[in-house]
Amino acid sequence: MLIYDLDLDSIANLLQEWDEPAYRAKQIWQGLYQHLYDSPDQFTNLSKSLRTKLEENLSFMPFKVNTYLDSSDGFTRKTLFQLPDKNLIEAVLMRYGDPADNPQITGSPTGRGAKNRRTLCISTQAGCAMGCVFCATGQMGFKRHLSSGEIVAQVLYYARMLKDANESVTNIVLMGMGEPFHNYDNTMAAIDRLNDPSGFNFGARRFTISTVGLVPQIRRFADEKRQVNLAISLHAADDESRVAMLPVNKRYKIDDVIEACKYYVAQTHRRVTFEWALINEVNDSPEVAKRLAARLKGLLCHVNAIPLNPTTGYSGQATSRERAAKFKESLEQAGIPCTIRMRRGIDIHAGCGQLAGSV
Ligand code: SAH
Ligand code: SF4
Repeated sequence: MLIYDLDLDSIANLLQEWDEPAYRAKQIWQGLYQHLYDSPDQFTNLSKSLRTKLEENLSFMPFKVNTYLDSSDGFTRKTLFQLPDKNLIEAVLMRYGDPADNPQITGSPTGRGAKNRRTLCISTQAGCAMGCVFCATGQMGFKRHLSSGEIVAQVLYYARMLKDANESVTNIVLMGMGEPFHNYDNTMAAIDRLNDPSGFNFGARRFTISTVGLVPQIRRFADEKRQVNLAISLHAADDESRVAMLPVNKRYKIDDVIEACKYYVAQTHRRVTFEWALINEVNDSPEVAKRLAARLKGLLCHVNAIPLNPTTGYSGQATSRERAAKFKESLEQAGIPCTIRMRRGIDIHAGCGQLAGSV
């Protein structure tokens, strides 16, 4: 059993079974999520016999590092983890300056006003069942859901690395491999575990969930009134184009997704982000921007556009800087705020699923 799959109550139950005092649960919890211990022998405040029980009954390392890559600018690291069943998952650390200072180039942690953001991009599944045509993870198909502990462990892996450098994680985006709303319960359990104030204490508002647009789950998420940020991968402004890129659109049409987003905003009063991979001559024209703006009118939202990261299984190319700037301008003229993000870590296959797909 993976120890990160257990919440505090489950640890307490286990200790009861082992006839250990109840207060030990909190000590283990703090060891794992405050001190970031990753092996039983680090828990020097526990009895030797309890450490042995931990060692014999629980796993502290759910994966091994298959490979890692640093971008040439040194700001991005991608790690490929190998799970015991040989499945591969990716998690990325991105070091940012403060995007408010320079929304176009957010790369320089030494730049003016850099706020040293340390953002983790975490996977929720090995592979993905949604089959989006431009996505390397979609191209490899679905392998399996990750457990909550496997999601948590990716965060802890980087948290330990940053701690060694006297730094800490500032943001977590569930935008690695997989569709988090297809693995809803485990994803939320992972967030809850990391959110616990007596443990890792990572604020809900510093998480972002990105979904391809699973309508029932968007509504459920809205009903739960979580403070986690919500991003929707839209990429197209009409159903015909969206179906061609995102097969899930056969099931959930753009209007249904937007209705669900309106419901989310009504329930939470929080702004929705729409993600848009800018593909040259496909979805990057001012006309498309105007159509998009018309659909989003009246919704508390903004558009986060990023030039496509080309993948081997898809012929589309990235938009140019000029076309990206025009797209942004057209959207904003129509009243929809838009940021263009520069691709990061392109040279290390930092796009979703690209490293796992190439091994
Ligand atoms: N399954 C979720 C989260 C993982 S994908 C989702 O689809 O939202 C994270 C983001 O990367 C999504 O917005 C997705 O559309 C985008 N993406 C996938 N492949 C990409 C590529 N090749 N270039 C640019 N963005 C890509
Ligand atoms: Fe899955 Fe998201 Fe990739 Fe689509 S873009 S295949 S939903 S990971």
